[in-house]
Amino acid sequence: MVVTRFAPSPTGYLHIGGLRTALYNYLWARKNHGKFLLRIEDTDLKRNSKEAAKAIEEAFNWTGLSYDGDPIYQSQRFDIYKEYIQKLLDENKAYYCYMTKEELDELRKEQMARKERPRYDGRYRDFKGEPPKGVEPVVRIKVPQGETIEFEDGIKGKVSVKVDDVMDDFIIARSDGTPTYNFVVAIDDALMGITDVIRGDDHLSNTPKQIVVYKALGFDIPKFYHVPMILNPQGKKLSKRDGAMDVMEYKRMGYLPEALLNFLVRLGWSYGDQEIFSMEEMLRLFDPHDINKSASAYNAEKLLWLNAHYIKNAPYERLIKELEFFGVHIDDHDKKEILIDSLKERSKTLKEMAEAALKILKEPASYDEKAVKKFLKEENIEILKKFKEALKERENLHLPVDYEEFVKEFLDKNELKLKNLAQPLRIALVGDTVSPSIYDVLSIVGKEGIIKRIEKLLNHLQEEN
Ligand code: GLU
Repeated sequence: MVVTRFAPSPTGYLHIGGLRTALYNYLWARKNHGKFLLRIEDTDLKRNSKEAAKAIEEAFNWTGLSYDGDPIYQSQRFDIYKEYIQKLLDENKAYYCYMTKEELDELRKEQMARKERPRYDGRYRDFKGEPPKGVEPVVRIKVPQGETIEFEDGIKGKVSVKVDDVMDDFIIARSDGTPTYNFVVAIDDALMGITDVIRGDDHLSNTPKQIVVYKALGFDIPKFYHVPMILNPQGKKLSKRDGAMDVMEYKRMGYLPEALLNFLVRLGWSYGDQEIFSMEEMLRLFDPHDINKSASAYNAEKLLWLNAHYIKNAPYERLIKELEFFGVHIDDHDKKEILIDSLKERSKTLKEMAEAALKILKEPASYDEKAVKKFLKEENIEILKKFKEALKERENLHLPVDYEEFVKEFLDKNELKLKNLAQPLRIALVGDTVSPSIYDVLSIVGKEGIIKRIEKLLNHLQEEN
């Protein structure tokens, strides 16, 4: 069985790079009918862990990704880590080191002077004497000297490092007894039965150390997949300004979660040149072995394009529900489908769509004065007045086609062109000259609403003069 995990360090929220890692682990586990587990790496940040887990849970709920069982908190597992530290001490695979900070600094200075890489010199590795008084020791693991550690990374291929080049007998427990990062990660992954570790390649240098721990304890070593980072379009580390922000910020900006997941799956993985992937397709096609070897660049335009695609193809009910988050409540509106239809083709985000909807649903609070000057000359005002009177006389206007027919009749009868009416009418309806099809807007606003809005504009113009 494939068991994967997402192991965020609680920074208070889930960011986009984290979500991509989570998605890859999720897809791989679900595709193989395995398990996807969540582990909160909160050994340093005990106080924030609950909030962070909540924030992550909230983001997961929004994206629709789900994990199995309850989250595991490292901060609650110190007893387990202690037990394994003791086991290594008992088996003589780890030892107490009594070196003081001053001695360590001294050693480092000497090594630097000799132009050597600073490293612990192993002076307590086989120490048998009387420990110095007053020093709380750290625990160091015995790294097998002279060995080469090799593993087959599912993305990078064969990774091979000489332990002497990259590590010394590293600390697994600090002098206050708390365990260190690489130690707890290895213990947890082993005890949680993780078979596949998919994570950012910023962790690649940790993996050999974790393998040392696995080997010392006789644990099975999982498969590793180290995913290249997401870069900004300039090839630099992705910053907040580029889009490296809280996943929930994407919700607030009006992105659909499926668009974001689709965007993220492609940021580092591809299947031919296909761009659009439903969750069902991702599950069918994703394989971590196909993750790109080189870093991928965040492309905000593409995310917008994908979002527009998903908005265009979303069912009415879904969009109506999503728009509520942005203050648009149209569940009871008799023209809600016309409204959604006319906006979804032209909206890149839900936020944009909501703003456009509110512009139609609410009477204009003010008017674009430039447009008023340009399009509401004396003759246009007369046309608007006439239009209003004609409208009052007319029954059975409901759909956009009804209004289209009515407008055409009105124009013919008065020997006018659409351009004499359209912009003035738009200004009356929405306050400026930007709106979807005028017939859609007329239908949504409805006869009573149109009359009211024309009167409101006429009053406004009168006050102006
Ligand atoms: N907690 C680590 C991070 O947030 C991930 C550790 C791992 O995946 O092994 O970067």
